[in-house]
Amino acid sequence: MKSDVQVAVIGGGIVGAAVLYWLAKKGWTDTVLVERRELTSGSTWHSSGHVAYFGPEADFSQLYASSIQTYVQAEQESGHSISFHQTGSLRIASNEKELELFHSYKPDFDKRGIPYNVCTPDEVSTLNPLLETSGIFGAAYTPTDGYLDPSGATQALAAAARGLGASVERFCPVLSLQRDTSGWLVETEKGIISAKHVVVAASFWTRELLAKLGIGVPVYAIKHQCVLSDSLPGLVELDHEIPILRDSYISGSVRQEGKGILAGFYEDTPEFWALDGIPKDFHEDLFEPDLDRIMPNLERLMERYPSFREVGIKNVINGPMCLTPDNLPLIGPVQDHEGLWLATGFHVGIATGGGSAEFLAHWMTSGAPPFDLKAVHADRFPNDMPTDLVLERMRQYYRKFYQLPT
Ligand SMILES: Cc1cc2nc3c(=O)[nH]c(=O)nc-3n(C[C@H](O)[C@H](O)[C@H](O)COP(=O)(O)OP(=O)(O)OC[C@H]3O[C@@H](n4cnc5c(N)ncnc54)[C@H](O)[C@@H]3O)c2cc1C
Repeated sequence: MKSDVQVAVIGGGIVGAAVLYWLAKKGWTDTVLVERRELTSGSTWHSSGHVAYFGPEADFSQLYASSIQTYVQAEQESGHSISFHQTGSLRIASNEKELELFHSYKPDFDKRGIPYNVCTPDEVSTLNPLLETSGIFGAAYTPTDGYLDPSGATQALAAAARGLGASVERFCPVLSLQRDTSGWLVETEKGIISAKHVVVAASFWTRELLAKLGIGVPVYAIKHQCVLSDSLPGLVELDHEIPILRDSYISGSVRQEGKGILAGFYEDTPEFWALDGIPKDFHEDLFEPDLDRIMPNLERLMERYPSFREVGIKNVINGPMCLTPDNLPLIGPVQDHEGLWLATGFHVGIATGGGSAEFLAHWMTSGAPPFDLKAVHADRFPNDMPTDLVLERMRQYYRKFYQLPT
């Protein structure tokens, strides 16, 4: 294991791997990524893998766009498949105001050269014949969106970074961080690494790791659920994949998986997990399904997809997801701790991880962020934000993730 590096990245999910990759692309290759277990063993391995050019906030959408480009580029450079299915996506307008909003986005997409149309309900039907379009006012259609294999993308990023000279140390939990005269001492189970810079990309583990330094990072995990259906009659006959659906009515997203559908929901009453600390024996684990909590979402999904009523649920994926008090990640330097950086708090880390890593790597290697995006800066919350307030904000923002700003 390298014991003296310019940068140590803690955490080998998609975000940590993307940070290692972008640092290497910008010439910083004296680096090591240290991962507690196997790469992707946090949230990344069980993610649905949706990536999109359609971002909810205009400023933030650049991070979405460059994420897709990052993964495609890493695939080409490493030869590791990311299994990108470019199905396109439909963002449903459930009322007149949402439709107006989608029309107002068009000039911005045109300016950035990203294919984008606003469809009528009939056009939506043509793109997805299984969808019940009564009650739908139209949809925003981004044909270059899709989904990919999150583990494949992480491996591609790590392999491409290694090809440029970076290294990866697996099964190497970081136990503590300590400041010294030349930078940081990263104490791991395999020994100490001396690093000028440390990037913490440890998702919901970050709070505990940095609490030891008196740094308050408002990240917690909730249990996020997706259901996978048995084959749907209409899908079996189709010779192409249907676009991903995003919909405020069901408060979630749906995509094709094989000949069934995979639907993930942002519930009204999210359940937090491990508030007192992540169990030491938590490995690549999932939680027991809890369909009662997502029953209102499932009922609405059946209205949108009538054929879903006719088939069973094959699998439920209930896994931990990291939240911050405003649903946005924490990216950038930690105040008053020179050389310590965050890339954490991602709840859509597949869709935004690659672009966020590029943003951070630019900041680290050039001394300034590539563009103004204060909404994600790591220092935007007070160090001692009360836990009750943190959790209340998380509940509010999580449940309204699919609401549009109308
Ligand atoms: C059911 C479900 C579906 C999802 N679907 C999507 C989707 O379609 N699109 C999307 O964008 N997002 C989705 N997400 C969210 C997405 O999975 C996460 O946002 C993303 O994986 C976060 O990546 P990460 O690298 O920040 O964290 P993680 O993948 O959790 O990685 C953090 C890593 O840090 C390591 N680590 C922690 N502590 C230490 C330590 N002390 N020393 C060394 N290593 C350490 C962990 O082992 C872990 O591997 C979904 C989530 C769930 C639960």
